[in-house]
Amino acid sequence: MANAKAGSDDIQDPLDPEERQQRYASSLNAFKTLLSFQWVSPERISANQETCVKALVEHAIAKVPFYRERLDMLRGPDGIDLSRWLDVPLLSRTDVVNEKHALTAQEIPDRHGRTHVVRSSGTTGGRTEVLKTDLQGNVNACSQLRFWHEAGIDWSQNLGIIRAVDPTPEEAGSDDPEAYRWGPQWLPWSSRGSLGILSVLTPPDQQLDWIEARAPIYLNTMPSNLLTLAHHVRDTGRKVSGIAGALTGGDALSHDIRREVSRWLGIEAMDTLAAGECGRVASQCPGGGPGYHMETEANVVEVLKEDGTPCRPGETGLLTVTPLFSFAMPLIRYQFQDWVTVGEPCSCGRTSPVIADIIGRDSTLLRFRDGVRMRLELDSERIFQMIGPRRFQIVQTSPDRIEIRIAEMRSDHPADTGAMENYVKELAGRDIEIVSRLVPAIGTPSSGKFDRVWRSFP
Ligand SMILES: [Zn+2]
Repeated sequence: MANAKAGSDDIQDPLDPEERQQRYASSLNAFKTLLSFQWVSPERISANQETCVKALVEHAIAKVPFYRERLDMLRGPDGIDLSRWLDVPLLSRTDVVNEKHALTAQEIPDRHGRTHVVRSSGTTGGRTEVLKTDLQGNVNACSQLRFWHEAGIDWSQNLGIIRAVDPTPEEAGSDDPEAYRWGPQWLPWSSRGSLGILSVLTPPDQQLDWIEARAPIYLNTMPSNLLTLAHHVRDTGRKVSGIAGALTGGDALSHDIRREVSRWLGIEAMDTLAAGECGRVASQCPGGGPGYHMETEANVVEVLKEDGTPCRPGETGLLTVTPLFSFAMPLIRYQFQDWVTVGEPCSCGRTSPVIADIIGRDSTLLRFRDGVRMRLELDSERIFQMIGPRRFQIVQTSPDRIEIRIAEMRSDHPADTGAMENYVKELAGRDIEIVSRLVPAIGTPSSGKFDRVWRSFP
């Protein structure tokens, strides 16, 4: 653990162990409750959600201008009646951007604590600024701890967050010791690994230097960045050791990315579906099940077809979330442009409903004239055989046309663009125009989310 305190050697824990346990006793209790709540009956999950939603709706009608009339259909003679929940209009990202003030509560019950602003970049529909409370943050933190605990994560090792981030605590000069540690705050400071933060825009070779200086380390990053690191290792032959595992989220973790990360970095990824506006929505089954368990204690998660009706297991629809503790800025039936498939109950015994598959952001799917959307299942190994280590993007520019952009580079490996065109045509399974062209470079957007496939029209 020579490097465990990298960057924070001079920061000491100001709390003695007893003070620490007292200060974080309520977090420990919440964590224990969440641990046991994984196994309760589905009826109890529904009853808990109903109680929470009613409280949120009542608060929204009374204290949030945006909802004063919008939720009229839920007013019953004896209080809130959720039987017409499916008639509540969906909230869009545009609403959240444009109606920020009307969505803000004029008053919040004391038990929700302080409020703070959470900004999310988003690739479509502008930047959102959502007001959240301490209580919301605590619930989110506890559900994250539960996931790590159940997944067997060892928090005596270090954690490296590689994302589109503001300055690291060291750079920002934070004097809060907790900014340099991760894991449960009720545990002694010395038993927890260090927390480091690096910008995802750092070149891959420098990311690997940073990672190795902090090993053993878990990586918290986007799947697309993990793939960039894996392919950097493939293309340079660099040996990397000391990565304990990856905790991913932020863009889609495809089968191909899982395979490449396992092959070149020697690690498995544990994935989470989350959004800045809502926090954690679902986490990969830590018991080895094939899907993602919804975080039912923090959200009502709905998966809706385009006509607004709920999807059944096996069906794919748009992710729609109501964060139960969003009292500072209630987001009631907030619909994302993310497609997911509903799963069957999980064989691991955890009772929360399952998302079988995260298909991806709408803008990363192909869309054809008949309205059919399609995720391209890329195979990195096959693509490497055709164009070598060159960076590429597959862009659908109209319903009938796909353009393959391949970055020019000097390489002993030839670029067989014709083979690549045939490959994409075969994947798309349609008779559409496919062209390829060499471009000087393909950059990464400032969000760090690099999409190998995207659509340039709505
Ligand atoms: Zn499971």
